[in-house]
Amino acid sequence: MPISKSRQSPFDTQNERGADRLLQIEAVYDKVPVGLCYLNRNGTFVTINDQLSRMFGITSEKAVGHSVEDILPEHAALLRNSLRAALAGAPIPDQEIQRSEETFMVSAAPVTNDLGEIAGISVAYTNISNVKRIAQKLHDTEQRTSYALESAGQWIWDLDIATMRVWRSPQYRVLLGLDPNGAETESVAWDIVHPDDKANAVQAFEDAVSGRKPHFEAVYRVPRGGGGDAWILSRGKIVEYGPDGAPLRLLATSVDISMQKHVEEQLSTTVQLRLELEQKLLEANRKLRKLSERDHLTNLPNRRKFNHLLKREFVDAAEHAQTLAVLMIDIDHFKAYNDFYGHLAGDKCLVQVGRALNKVIKQSGGSIARFGGEEFAALLSGVTTEQASATAAQMLDTVSAMQLEHSGSPTGIISVSIGMAVLEDANRTIIDGPDNILNFADSALYESKRNGRGRLSVWGDFAK
Ligand code: GH3
Ligand code: MG
Ligand code: MG
Repeated sequence: MPISKSRQSPFDTQNERGADRLLQIEAVYDKVPVGLCYLNRNGTFVTINDQLSRMFGITSEKAVGHSVEDILPEHAALLRNSLRAALAGAPIPDQEIQRSEETFMVSAAPVTNDLGEIAGISVAYTNISNVKRIAQKLHDTEQRTSYALESAGQWIWDLDIATMRVWRSPQYRVLLGLDPNGAETESVAWDIVHPDDKANAVQAFEDAVSGRKPHFEAVYRVPRGGGGDAWILSRGKIVEYGPDGAPLRLLATSVDISMQKHVEEQLSTTVQLRLELEQKLLEANRKLRKLSERDHLTNLPNRRKFNHLLKREFVDAAEHAQTLAVLMIDIDHFKAYNDFYGHLAGDKCLVQVGRALNKVIKQSGGSIARFGGEEFAALLSGVTTEQASATAAQMLDTVSAMQLEHSGSPTGIISVSIGMAVLEDANRTIIDGPDNILNFADSALYESKRNGRGRLSVWGDFAK
């Protein structure tokens, strides 16, 4: 059974291992892209690798056995300091040195001998010029982005979809007036969104994640530093997908649109107010027009309205060769009624008669107006003279049937007289306008009065 070598001769084994390690180190010593050297405690070069030789244009043969002052005079102070620190057992800080365009990081570590004494220092020169350049570029880019975002009133946020955690750029705190040092910049998605707007924001997110929409876009409120809310417009897109195509990251910018929202709201309020005002004005106008077309005592259409209606109906009847009957109705001996019963009673009587006449004409499909004083005027279109006469007769009967006492009248009750003119084929050449037909109806009324009142006269029956 082979017995372990180390148990028989531990020192041999240790030496063999040490030699192996040294060989391995030597193999890479000249290959690493770092300048390496070893200085003994007197500050004399013991080894330097190829990389260091190239860096400073010194050969290993020339350097080994010579002091740092002879070989690298410009680094002598630095290397002596490191050596001093190592000998004193103090930590040796890394140092940066500039050499023409290049920057080097000089790191040194103490090397001890078998007795544990400081034998020298091992020094590494790492060219960090590229790293420095990249870091500077990164810093410049970050600064430019930061200025651009801040002056545009925007901040960036980055949502990790798996964890639903959000990182926000520092402008978030600056622009919303939040404590720049307060809390961490990361939080759970939507936790800053106003509760009333959350569903909206989540919907926009789901639309983007599912691919229903190519972008994420949402408007919502978030709390401001000094209290109150700011309106935010966020726009973004999915910037990273997993191997299975699942979205991993949403990158977005947010901008404070409170000002625009405010203007928008004011505008909408102004527009709303204007619309309401317009509506009120229209309504007032409509009421005014109605009032201007109504007689305030009887609440029937007035003469103005009647004239409009007559004009329209006349044109219509003329155009379509239709008939049109105009009736003038006048209360008999009304002056005497006023004299006997008083003006107020006269008013009441006028209202009653007007209402009764209106009822009859409505049933016949016509219309009536208070033409003035105790006179009414009515229109019936599309009827024959016989039909219109029947309606007029019904008016006479209805008023009589009311049996309104009138001591000033020979009959003892209120009655009306009616004059009627009908536009029909037989007289279209004679009746040539609304004024014309009204005059003929009026002369027919006069005929009724002349013939004893309480009756109907039709123009044409007595004279043309
Ligand atoms: P006739 O039978 O010929 O029509 O006689 P009349 O007295 O009715 O005719 P006249 O034209 O002489 O008188 C009309 C009267 O109607 C005069 C006026 O006092 C009265 N009258 C007119 N408008 C009103 C009103 O609004 N209220 C009252 N109470 N009376 C009115
Ligand atoms: Mg009269
Ligand atoms: Mg009268």
